[in-house]
Amino acid sequence: MVQPAQRWSGNAEKLQAKGEDTDRLGLPSSYKSDASINSLGPVQQLTSVKVQNVPKTDGGLTSFDEMKRRFLNFKKHKYLEEVEHFQTLAEVQSPKFMVIACVDSRVCPSNVVGFKPGEAFMVRNVANIVPPLENGPTETNAALEFAVNTLEVENIFVIGHSNCAGIEALMSMQDESSHSFVEKWVATAKAAKLRTKADASGLSFDQQCKNCEKESINCSLLNLLTYPWIEEKVRKEMLSVHGGYYDFLNCTFEKWTLDFKEISNVGQGWIFSAKDRELWTFLTIRKPLRMLPVLLLDDSCGFTLFFDAVSRNVDGMNYFHKKVVGLLFVATTRVNVSPSLVLELLQRIARVIKDYLGTLIEDSLRKNFVLVYELLDEVIDFGYVQATSIEVLKSNVFNEPIVIDVGCLQPL
Ligand SMILES: [Zn+2]
Repeated sequence: MVQPAQRWSGNAEKLQAKGEDTDRLGLPSSYKSDASINSLGPVQQLTSVKVQNVPKTDGGLTSFDEMKRRFLNFKKHKYLEEVEHFQTLAEVQSPKFMVIACVDSRVCPSNVVGFKPGEAFMVRNVANIVPPLENGPTETNAALEFAVNTLEVENIFVIGHSNCAGIEALMSMQDESSHSFVEKWVATAKAAKLRTKADASGLSFDQQCKNCEKESINCSLLNLLTYPWIEEKVRKEMLSVHGGYYDFLNCTFEKWTLDFKEISNVGQGWIFSAKDRELWTFLTIRKPLRMLPVLLLDDSCGFTLFFDAVSRNVDGMNYFHKKVVGLLFVATTRVNVSPSLVLELLQRIARVIKDYLGTLIEDSLRKNFVLVYELLDEVIDFGYVQATSIEVLKSNVFNEPIVIDVGCLQPL
């Protein structure tokens, strides 16, 4: 197999054969910029320069004043309170996670999932893409190589997010020969685009982008396995590979782990799937506008008294509930709406969930939280009822249910 280092060598020899002068990096002389002429000078000179013309924030402080305040706050409340930990980190790092995340300013994993110093070795690129081995060296696989082979991390975590401009660029691309650096880079994930176009062509462009954001994460997880030193550790269960999706519109985080099974005849290959899928949010499921469906898993928390009637108005908020096989299905809305419509909707939601999960019990709801959330997301969009037909929902909901084994199904 041709190794990346071999594929990228030989540049200097080719240029010299063409009669061009090269520097010691193998670049032709004509590539040199004026940067070497306009040297910044010694570091001592830099330290004496006062920062000027920095944009002011609303409070009159410059951005760097604010950074300075935050840094000193970090030093006081984090560094000095755990000084031994930070001094140990100064000697050696042994992170358990290698993280690949997007460059988007809104999705820093250290903020979103709270990685502390020393916990995650991280590389961020446009659209959190892991290129396959055959694409050659990038800063992403250089970081992966160091994390896996030198730091010996136990987990690789590819984290994508909602409203990703990189994925939107990928989905919008018409011309594969574009000279845009962004488009050349995101084209690395074109397999995700093709799969989205094949599976979700009937959806709106925004929904296709959302689909592609998750599809691209899965493509990156599989691309990780094109590196022999990753594939070997995954096969020996010394390294786990995870996907994550941060939806910052609803503030939810979906996490799953790549599972694999060897095809019965050794050497024939692997079958991959997702396992340990979780959705991190609060127990209630709610939509932000107009009509808010809420699932309550049981009626043991005082709601039975509150819901002694099927509908109530409290401080301008209308509450409706329908009790189905011991579970309370609750909808809230601030607008005047026909109670019979809402109760019918709740009944249909219960029916849809039962049809998908096979049974309607508390344990089944808990284990299929992601699927139930996805169903509600399709049934009601921005407060408006979209579809309660299983046939329509099947074209948009792709998660498989975790089947709960019960002796007999309870009737609706
Ligand atoms: Zn992004």
